[in-house]
Amino acid sequence: MESIGVLLACPMNSYLEQQLDKRFKLYRFWTVPDKSSFLASHKDSIQAVVGNAAAGADAELIEALPKLEIVASFSVGLDKIDLTKCKEKGIRVTNTPDVLTEDVADLAIGLMLAVLRKLCESDRYVRSGKWKRGDYVLTTKFTGKKVGIIGLGRIGMAIAKRAEAFSCPISYYSRTEKPEIKYKYYPSVVELAAHCDILVVACPLTKETHHIINREVINAMGPKGVLINIGRGPHVDEPELVSALVERRLGGAGLDVFENEPYVPEELFGLDNVVLLPHVGSGTVETRQAMADLVIGNLEAHFQKKPLLTPVV
Ligand code: NAP
Repeated sequence: MESIGVLLACPMNSYLEQQLDKRFKLYRFWTVPDKSSFLASHKDSIQAVVGNAAAGADAELIEALPKLEIVASFSVGLDKIDLTKCKEKGIRVTNTPDVLTEDVADLAIGLMLAVLRKLCESDRYVRSGKWKRGDYVLTTKFTGKKVGIIGLGRIGMAIAKRAEAFSCPISYYSRTEKPEIKYKYYPSVVELAAHCDILVVACPLTKETHHIINREVINAMGPKGVLINIGRGPHVDEPELVSALVERRLGGAGLDVFENEPYVPEELFGLDNVVLLPHVGSGTVETRQAMADLVIGNLEAHFQKKPLLTPVV
C-alpha cells in the first residue's frame, strides 16, 4: 500500500498523520504552495482523500483527481464532501460515527451547565480577585429545565439520556417522528423552540438545515431561552443570534461551532450570557485516536478489497 497516494486535506491529528505515513504515500495538502500544479502532477497517484469538519472533498477537488477511489472523513459530519459527485463517480465515502457520540453529548451538557450556572464567568470572577469585594450573582438552575433537541440521532439521543438524569423533560424535532421514542415530537423547529428552555442543535448540516436557527426560532425561544449548538456553525444565522444576545432578546448561548471558523463575532466576547468553544466536541485524546483508527481501518479495508467499516456511500 506504500505506493497509494493519500491526500490529507488539512492538519487534523498527529497520531493520524503518523499512521497514514507508515502505510501510504501521504501528501499534506495545506503545505502545498501551488495547489493546481500539485494536483495536475499527482492526479494519477492520489487514490484517497482524508478530510474532516474543516476541509473535505468538493466537486473541484474530486474532478481534479481522476484516480480517486475513496474519501475517508475524520468526522461524522459529511457537509464538506460533495456526496452527489462521489455517488456519480463511484467514489466510496466513510465517516467516524459512534466513537465520538459520548464526547459530543458530554460537551453539550457541559455547555448547558456552563451557560446556566455561568461557570466560565464565575471562574473569571475568582481569578480577577473580585470575590474579595463581594459574592457572585445568583445564576439559573439546570435540573428540570425543558430540553428540546433538533436531530434525535446518535448524538441527540446521547444528550437526551444525559439530560434525563438531570430530570429534564425532553422533546425533539426531526424530519420524521420516531414512534418508538417516548419524547414529545414537535413537527416544526419554531414549535419546539416555543416549548423548551434549552434548544440544542444536533442534526447534520444540509441545504435544509442551513440557518435552521433563524430570527423566528430565536423569537420563539425568548429572553429566557438558551441555545446550544454542537452541530455546525451554519445551522445558525449568526448575525441574528448576535443581535438577539446583545439585545437580550435571547437568554444565552453555548456554542462549540461558528459560521466562519476560526473567526467568532467579536460582539460575543464581552457578553456574560455566552460560552464559546473552539469546535472541540470530539476533542479528547481517546476519541481522536479512535476516530483516527477508524479512518485507517476504512482505508485499509478499501485497498484490501474488504468491506468498509463505516460506509456512507
Ligand atoms: P445522526 O445519528 O445521523 O443523527 C442526525 C439526526 O438528525 C437524525 O436523527 C435525523 O433524523 C436528524 N435530521 C437529519 N436531517 C434533518 C433535518 N433536515 N431536520 C431535522 N433533523 C434532521 O448523526 P450524529 O452522529 O448524531 O451527528 C449529528 C451531527 O453532529 C453531525 O452531522 C455533525 O455535523 C455534528 N457533530 C459535531 C461535532 C462537534 O465537534 N461539535 C462532533 C460530531 C458531530 P431524521 O432522519 O428523522 O430527520
